[in-house]
Amino acid sequence: MRYLQVEKDVRDTETLLCRLGRAPAEHAGMVNVPIYRGSTIISETLEEWDIRNKDYPSYGRFGTPLSRALETAICKLEGGYRSILFPSGQSACSHSLLACLKAGDSVLISDGVYSPVRAFADNVLARLQIKAEYFCSTKPSELAAKISAKTRAVYLESPSSMTFEVQDVPALAAIAHLSDALVIMDNTWATPLYFRPFEHGVDISIQAATKYIVGHSDAFLGVATANEAAWHALKSTAQHFGEIGAPDDIYLALRGIRTLGLRMRRHWENGLVLAQNLQTHPAVDRVLHPALPNDPGHVIWKRDFLGASGLFGVVLKPMSPPQLSVLFNSLRLFGIGLSWGGYESLALLVEPPKRMEGSLPFPGPLLRIHAGMESPTELIADLHSALNAACEVADDTIVPPETSELVSQCQIVS
Ligand SMILES: *Cc1c(COP(=O)(O)O)cnc(C)c1O
Repeated sequence: MRYLQVEKDVRDTETLLCRLGRAPAEHAGMVNVPIYRGSTIISETLEEWDIRNKDYPSYGRFGTPLSRALETAICKLEGGYRSILFPSGQSACSHSLLACLKAGDSVLISDGVYSPVRAFADNVLARLQIKAEYFCSTKPSELAAKISAKTRAVYLESPSSMTFEVQDVPALAAIAHLSDALVIMDNTWATPLYFRPFEHGVDISIQAATKYIVGHSDAFLGVATANEAAWHALKSTAQHFGEIGAPDDIYLALRGIRTLGLRMRRHWENGLVLAQNLQTHPAVDRVLHPALPNDPGHVIWKRDFLGASGLFGVVLKPMSPPQLSVLFNSLRLFGIGLSWGGYESLALLVEPPKRMEGSLPFPGPLLRIHAGMESPTELIADLHSALNAACEVADDTIVPPETSELVSQCQIVS
């Protein structure tokens, strides 16, 4: 008891990360909750069966001591009422939407949203007669103009996937709540450590735990956390669809939480150093990172966020396909691959999500960088030498004045 009591008085996140979701006294003194595999849970007596049915899992699909441990830990970190696990981040996104919506309703989604969520809304929600509409994520006035009595949910993701615009979540949530719509937010980029969704008006917060919470690119998991008002709908929807997390993946996510604070600080630091450094390379047009003071989202980021993750965007000056191929093929420390949030650095050529107002204000190719935990000096050197190699590729397909300018600038640097 002495050991368990501590949790109630702990306020500091670093201490919480070491303590949350643990119960050594209930597990033979083991520091970590072991992996529970199981469907049937046996009761000794009818009385015990009744108790289990009321407030303890009575069947593996309704939870195990391990899944409850992770849910409790994430819920405390997010600052919500209860959390529930899903087999992937995408599953947490789609079921959170389904929890809030029925036929005839509409949902307003910020236009820079994770593209599989847009695809889910435009395909599955549309088939269920739920209308998905989009609004420019940086314009609360556009949300105010589009919201109607039929809008039952507003879906946010800040910063936006791929282009990293920071949203004014409190302002957007206030508009949604005036119309009694619930606010769902994908909080994967910041993790609960760097954005406290329920202090900013969010009703359901989503973590693709696959990313930073697991942190090692070796498991899939999603978590949705609700306030009291949204909890019943979220939980019953998850149960109707039979959504559960896999025991080994849950164990890895709970283990990941122990080092989340340390890892996030390193990702933040490395990401910012890389972002600052890339701004100075002549092949780079703009760096999209809200912690940079010249970023359009910086003021709101500073007001609402407690840190930054390692994921950001880089807009290149126009480059030909052969140059891009040399750029990527020259990288030694950056893997080319989907997902992010693991310990390793990644680089990817991405398509910006569709926007309300035609094309984005930049024409060049868009890179998404995930700064891993390697040495920042070596990461910078790797990116610079790959960019320089790309600049040295002569190619007729580029507009001549820009090419010569770009190449001469690059040669000065290299
Ligand atoms: C990756 C990602 C998801 C989906 O997570 P999966 O576990 O891959 O299904 C959802 N939202 C965001 C912002 C993501 O980056």
